Amino acid sequence: MKKPADALIDSNQLRERAEQIVAAQPALEAVSQDNDKRLLHELQVHQIELEMLNENLRQSQMELEKSWARYHDLYELAPVGYLSLNDNDLIVDANRTASKLLGRLKKSLLEYPLTRFIVRDDHDIYYAHRKQLVKTGKAQQMELRLTQAGATSYWVRLEMNRTLDMDANPVLRVILSDINEQKSNDEYLRQAAAMFEATREGVMITDAQTRILVVNRRFSELTGYSASEVIGMTPQMLSSGRQNEQFYTAMWDDVQKHSYWQGEIWDRRKDGEIFPQMLSISAVRCEQNQISHYVGVFSDISKLKDAEARLDFMAHHDPLTGLSNRLLLFSRLEHCISMSRRERKSAALLMMDLDRFKDVNDSYGHLAGDELLQQVAHRLTSRLRNIDTVTRLGGDEFALLLEDLSHPQDAALVAVEILESLSLPWQLSNGIEVRIGVSIGISLFPEHGKSSEELLQHADTALYRAKGEGRGNFKYFSEDMTHAALRRINLETLLRRAVVKDELLVYYQPQVDIRTGKIIGAEALLRWHNAEEGMIPPDQFIPVAEEIGLISEIGEWVLRQVCQQGMNWIAAGLPSLKLAVNLSLHQFRHGDVAALVAEVLHETGFPPGMLELELTESALMERESEVVLILQRLQDLGVRLAIDDFGTGYSSFAYLKYFPLNILKIDKTFIEDLTEMDDDKEIAAAIIGLGHTLHLQVLAEGVETEEQLIFLKEQGCDFYQGYYASPAVSAHDFFNLFQNSPVPK
Ligand code: C2E
Ligand code: CA
Ligand code: CA
Repeated sequence: MKKPADALIDSNQLRERAEQIVAAQPALEAVSQDNDKRLLHELQVHQIELEMLNENLRQSQMELEKSWARYHDLYELAPVGYLSLNDNDLIVDANRTASKLLGRLKKSLLEYPLTRFIVRDDHDIYYAHRKQLVKTGKAQQMELRLTQAGATSYWVRLEMNRTLDMDANPVLRVILSDINEQKSNDEYLRQAAAMFEATREGVMITDAQTRILVVNRRFSELTGYSASEVIGMTPQMLSSGRQNEQFYTAMWDDVQKHSYWQGEIWDRRKDGEIFPQMLSISAVRCEQNQISHYVGVFSDISKLKDAEARLDFMAHHDPLTGLSNRLLLFSRLEHCISMSRRERKSAALLMMDLDRFKDVNDSYGHLAGDELLQQVAHRLTSRLRNIDTVTRLGGDEFALLLEDLSHPQDAALVAVEILESLSLPWQLSNGIEVRIGVSIGISLFPEHGKSSEELLQHADTALYRAKGEGRGNFKYFSEDMTHAALRRINLETLLRRAVVKDELLVYYQPQVDIRTGKIIGAEALLRWHNAEEGMIPPDQFIPVAEEIGLISEIGEWVLRQVCQQGMNWIAAGLPSLKLAVNLSLHQFRHGDVAALVAEVLHETGFPPGMLELELTESALMERESEVVLILQRLQDLGVRLAIDDFGTGYSSFAYLKYFPLNILKIDKTFIEDLTEMDDDKEIAAAIIGLGHTLHLQVLAEGVETEEQLIFLKEQGCDFYQGYYASPAVSAHDFFNLFQNSPVPK
């Protein structure tokens, strides 16, 4: 742009005129003095006018210069670049911003074509707009990339207009704005959005209150919920219920504390299916460090889990039989030990080695051997409870872990069953029948070892001994346990036979009235007389009978026997007496006792009022409402009810009130030390008092000395039973005792 210097032309002309007038002055003087004076005056006035005019002009020139400076500043320092191009696209003017954008000083820009600074790929855009401009005369706008001498390109917006300059030549006015930053932001957002949609992970973004704001396409594919179904909801709608409150609390705690959490979690899809996912949650914080958003990214890891489970199975199982392997046995054993220790339970480890397996392998080949092992595995597992672990340790060695064992000898029962089951013939698919055997070593927790290693080692030692004793049998790690187990197994066989062979007897122990010393009745106690073993005490065989399911049969037999005997005594002229029969827990819980009692009373004709049934505390404690009903039905029959071994079971007296009972039998352990232990004295006295408060009669068991009897008498106890009066004796002997009662001592 040129400075407007021509603006002074007018004032110069004025000055010329004034000089002409002044130059003409002497000539005029000569014409006339008067005229002269007038003219002079006029001239002076003109001159003043001219000077004023000139001053005005000077003023406006200054104004013009100021505005020119302002304009110049605005033009040069504008935030956008201005360029003027001639019709050949050559730069004819540029402001400072433009020259900065193009990366050159103004003077070295001039006469260069603008296209020289435009990235080659964008030339077409430029020319297209350029053409349009010429054609339509309308200003054009475009975005294209400039480059500074081949350096990295950057984005500008280019606005182009076409006018005429002062000399009426066409000129292009170009405005350049730097949009590089905006462009790269746009680009970033575009890429982020593409990534958000294309990623293989499900993504959700929530606000600080965990309300879902956006989800991506993958989220919908994985959960089955469309965006519109979840926006505004919280991710809780996906929860599967697999994780508890605690889990979520810990998770959110982590997110708050570290702004991040990652872990495995199970969610529920819209169709109800639950699936495992790897989830990461990030907290997004605003400038004040407050959480503004949460971003959850998750992937479905079902397949991974399946593969993991498969690998895990392979690592813990024997491929041939599918049984657990040594590794799994070991971890189960560890777990079992810690559980058993905590809950004070016992467990057994059985180590088994097949006998004569090698023969099968050698004679029929490995395939036959493998098949046999599979069949063995099958027979072993088909007989066991779910909680028991069967393991193939390798070769023809197997192990079995029995958890929650109620009795150490139960392990032997399982061992015997396995011995029998595996000794049955085996049918192989090639048509051959083979026979094998097995030897078993048993170690018990806690008796034979407190660690997995110890238990394994001791079971192995026991197995070695079992094999040493001619195979086909079992051995505990300790000899006495083996004996006890064998005896028990032996007892079982004998007991089954005893019932058939009539080896059981009922003995009667007198019950005595403490005040009068008269026998008022007897407790019926079972006796077993075995030809080889002699007398076997009920404490030994009744638990066996209970376990093998013989107790109901035996109990029924005792009841019938006692009522029959009672009738015989009545017939023989004995006065009214009371006969007490023990009922086992098993009898009470399974089967209808009341119906049985009614039936036996009816059959024998024994008066119900003379029959007393003894129950232990533990029989009464479970299923109370049912128990009350059963007791009620028994009382309705007219039978008396006693609570046996009182004080040894649950010491809750509350239930005594609810049960219809007649008599309370103080357990003999309290009577035993009565004369020495003050505590026992107090307990016995308290029980007697308690019984009486509840309107029950009280009987003391196990009275052996006069001192005990004197104490009981002082306390007002009603009856007693014990060696002091008599042990349990045969029906015949009891008959004699009764007739001689009161007891002569
Ligand atoms: P229980 O019902 O507490 O029977 C009392 C036990 O104490 C009897 O043992 C008896 O012989 C013994 N005894 C009696 N007086 C004395 C004494 O002065 N001192 C000592 N130390 N002991 C004495 P037994 O006959 O060996 O019976 C043991 C347990 O077997 C009985 O305990 C009872 O629970 C059970 N039992 C006995 N017969 C039967 C029966 O027919 N059916 C059922 N279900 N259980 C029975
Ligand atoms: Ca009893
Ligand atoms: Ca008792």
